Amino acid sequence: MIIDIHTHVGDILRSAESKREEKKKEIKRALLQLSEYIGFRNIYLGRLNKLFTNRVSKELKACSKDAYKLLESMQENNIDMCGLVPVSPNVETGITMALANTNKSLFSLASINPSKSVDENIEMFDNYFKNGCKGLKLHPAIQNINPESYKLFAIMNAYEKYNLPVLCHTGWLPIGNERYQEADSLHFLIKSFPDIKFILAHMNLLNPDKAIDFAVKYKNVYLEPSWQPSGIIARAMKKIPNSAERILFGSDFPYSSQTTPLKNIEKAVNDKKARERMLSLNAMELFKLY
Ligand SMILES: [Zn+2]
Repeated sequence: MIIDIHTHVGDILRSAESKREEKKKEIKRALLQLSEYIGFRNIYLGRLNKLFTNRVSKELKACSKDAYKLLESMQENNIDMCGLVPVSPNVETGITMALANTNKSLFSLASINPSKSVDENIEMFDNYFKNGCKGLKLHPAIQNINPESYKLFAIMNAYEKYNLPVLCHTGWLPIGNERYQEADSLHFLIKSFPDIKFILAHMNLLNPDKAIDFAVKYKNVYLEPSWQPSGIIARAMKKIPNSAERILFGSDFPYSSQTTPLKNIEKAVNDKKARERMLSLNAMELFKLY
């Protein structure tokens, strides 16, 4: 059984620009493909990656957002279940919920609506979690939500009772509010809600050691290693206590393929039981998928 906890449908990077990029069929995913080809080892270039910002940004925006493509990729990679991740206001929870309700191999997370009040968001939670949403997605950079704001703390306070995890984007990308991208910006939030499980998506990208440090220090921190090479995953396995219980497979499809992140986990983890935990059991437990 394989569960991918981090996939997208719809245009989370929505902008006038991305509509234009979509029309330009000549945009080839040259850098993204190269990066897949080398198993994401370009992450070792660290900040040098910033030199390729514009090109990467264009290529990400030109990725296909079709739900059908996801189902096709699941079949190709023998993936049994996928978590659909909304990012309001660009992709609303209603869309991912509707898709999950029509297909048993999909489940939906919920998204905070940054333009609505705390009370309105809390009211929407009731609807989302009674109707099958399995967790919360937070993208502070795209959503422009300050992780240390009163608003987010009030919303998290209400979210705690559902006993479901938060999947949070971490790491620098050429999009959104750069101040809210690094794992560091979540430090206060993670410390303040020890009963909420925070899954750091992409393991903080160019600075994965920070994500590993957080997982060592805080029991409520979990890691999702999309875009990370197998060497970094192996390092996380070595450093984090009970690491097999703290890492969950996610791909960030369609921005990444599902194939390379899956291969990287298989390469980094020899133990069959540990692999099984990371590829499915952890997700089943955290998102209550049984
Ligand atoms: Zn994502």
